[in-house]
Amino acid sequence: MAEKKDNLKAEKSGVNIRDFWLHLWTLIVPFHGQIFGVLVLIIFAEIVKLSGPYFLKLIIDNLMAFDATRIKEILIFIALMFASNEAGSLLSYVIDGKMFQILGGINEYIPHQALQKLLSLPLGYHEKENTGNKVVKITRGVDKIDSLLGNLSWEVVPTIFQIIFTAAVLLFLDWRFFLILLFFIPIFVFLTLKVNKEVYPYRRKRFMSQDESAGVMAQAIININTVKSFVQEKKESTKFQKIISQVKDNIWLEFSRIIKYNVKRNFVIDVGRAFILVAGFFLVWKNSMSIGSLVFVYTISEKALLSLFRISRIYDRVMESSEAIERIYSLSLEESEIKNAKNGFKPKNIDGQIEFKNVTFSYSDSTQKALNKVNFSINAGCMTALVGPSGGGKTTVARMVYRHYDPTKGDVLLDGKKLQEYDLYAFRKFIAIVPQEVEIFNTSVKDNIAYAKSNASFQEVQAAARIANAEEFITQLKGGYETLVGERGIKLSGGQRQRIGIARAILANPRILIFDEATSSLDSYSEKLIQEAMDKIVKGRTVIVIAHRLSTIKKADKIVVLEKGKVIEEGSHFELAQVSGGLYQKLIKLQEVGDVD
Ligand code: ADP
Repeated sequence: MAEKKDNLKAEKSGVNIRDFWLHLWTLIVPFHGQIFGVLVLIIFAEIVKLSGPYFLKLIIDNLMAFDATRIKEILIFIALMFASNEAGSLLSYVIDGKMFQILGGINEYIPHQALQKLLSLPLGYHEKENTGNKVVKITRGVDKIDSLLGNLSWEVVPTIFQIIFTAAVLLFLDWRFFLILLFFIPIFVFLTLKVNKEVYPYRRKRFMSQDESAGVMAQAIININTVKSFVQEKKESTKFQKIISQVKDNIWLEFSRIIKYNVKRNFVIDVGRAFILVAGFFLVWKNSMSIGSLVFVYTISEKALLSLFRISRIYDRVMESSEAIERIYSLSLEESEIKNAKNGFKPKNIDGQIEFKNVTFSYSDSTQKALNKVNFSINAGCMTALVGPSGGGKTTVARMVYRHYDPTKGDVLLDGKKLQEYDLYAFRKFIAIVPQEVEIFNTSVKDNIAYAKSNASFQEVQAAARIANAEEFITQLKGGYETLVGERGIKLSGGQRQRIGIARAILANPRILIFDEATSSLDSYSEKLIQEAMDKIVKGRTVIVIAHRLSTIKKADKIVVLEKGKVIEEGSHFELAQVSGGLYQKLIKLQEVGDVD
C-alpha cells in the first residue's frame, strides 16, 4: 500500500532533476577532471565556430560595396573563414577523441564497480533480488550513462554555449534580435518541460513492463525443464506477450504525445525565424544594418534555434535515462549488513572450535526466530551432525558459521574469539562447504574443481577428483577434465555435481568442512560414492554435517537436534537413541520404517 502511494507520488512529480544530475555526477567521480577539460575545449570550440559566419558577414559586406581595392581584404577574410572552419573541425576532433576516452573509461569503471559492489554484498541481499533483474539493471544503467554523456558532450553542452554566445553577439549587434531570441527560448523550454511531465507516467510504466517482461522471460528459460515437461510453453509465451504488449501500448501513449508537441515546437521555431527575418528586413530597409550583418544574424540564430530543437529532444532522452541511472546509483549506496572489522584478526591457522552462545537470529523479512537462544559447541577435529525437521534452523547455523549473517543477539565464536573480530575474508578461507545444490560454472570440469585454488596442478585436481569418487565419470566424459559442463552444470547429474563439489572442497583443504544435506537428494549408488568420499576427507577436520540419513548421522561424534530454532537434544547417537520419547528416537524409528529418509 505504502509502496503504491510512493509510486503515485513519483509519477506525479517525475524525477527530481537536481538529484538526478548530482547522482550521475557522483557515479563518475574519477572522470571529473577529464570532463572539466573537455568542457573548456567545448567552450573554446563554440567561440571559434561563431567566427566563421562572422567572416562571411565581412565578405558579403565587402562584396556589397565592391571595388578593386577590396580584393585583398576579401581574400584574407575567405582565408580566415576557412581557417576558422578548420580550427573548429580540429577542435571537434580533439573533443571527440577525449570524449571517447572518457566513455571507454566509464564503460570499464561502472560495471566493474557494480560487480564489486554486488560481490561484496552479503547473501541476505542476493536472496532478496532476482539475478536477471540485477544484471539487466547494471547493463541498462551503463548503456544509459554512456548515451547520456555522449549526448551531453556532443549536443547539449555545445548547444547551451552556442545559445549563450549567440545571445551575447546579438545583444552586441542589435538588442532587438536579442529580444526575439529571449522571447522564444522560454516558450520552447516550457513546451519541452510540459511534454516531459505529461509522458513521465507512461515512460515509467513502460520501464516497469519491460523489467517485468525480462523477469518472465528469464524465469521461463531458467526453468525450461519444468516448462517443457509440463507442456507450458504456450502459457509462458502468452504471459510474456501480455506484458510486452503493454510496453507497445505505452510506447504509443508516450510518443504520440511527444510528436504532437514536436509540431508545436516546430511552430515556435518557424515563428522565431520569421520574426528575425522581418526585423532584419526592416533594419536593412532603414539602412541601420548591412546585408552581411543580416546574413550573420540569420545564420547564427538559425543554428541556435535548430540546436535548441535538437536538445529538447535529447532532454526527452535524458529523462528516459534517469530511471536506469537512479538504479545504478541506489546500488552504489547499498550497504553491506555484514561489516568487515577494520584490522580484523587474520589467523595463520585455526583449530576450528566453534561455539554458539545464546544465539538468536531472525531473517530480516520474517517475524519468526530462525534460531532462538541457541547454545552448543562444535568441537575442533570432530564431526558434528545437525539434525531435525525441515525449517528447524540447520542451514541457518551453517550460514552463521560463515558469517553470512550476524546473530541478532548472542555470539558465534571461533577458537574462542567472536567472528566479528576476524577479518571476514581471512577466516572464511579456512572453511569449505558442499551445499545441497553445488553451483557449477560454465567452464571445464577441471576449472570447476580448482575453483578455490586456481593455481592447482593437474595432478592435484586429479587427486582431489579421485578422493571425491569423481574420476570415474570425468574420464568417461568426451573431453575428460577439459569438458565444458554448461551453465549451472546442466550436463551433469545431481550426484556428479555433488562429487565435483566435494573435489572442490578437498582442493580448498579447509579446517572446517560443512556438508549441507549433501546426499539427501541422491540415489543410493551416488550416495554410497559420496559417503565414501566424505569418509576419506573428514579426518582431522572440524566437520559439520546437516544430514537426514541415519548412516551419516551415526558416524558423528556429536548430534545436535534442532527444532523450531531451538536445540532440543544434544549428544552421541548412542546417548540420544536412549532418550525415550525424544525427537531423535522418533526420527530413527521413522527412518527404520522408511517414512523419512
Ligand atoms: P533447515 O535448514 O533446518 O531446514 P533453515 O535454517 O533453512 O532450516 O530455516 C530456518 C527458518 O528460517 C525457517 O522458518 C525458514 O523458513 C526461515 N528461513 C530460511 N532462510 C530464509 C531466508 N533467506 N529468508 C527468510 N527466512 C528464511
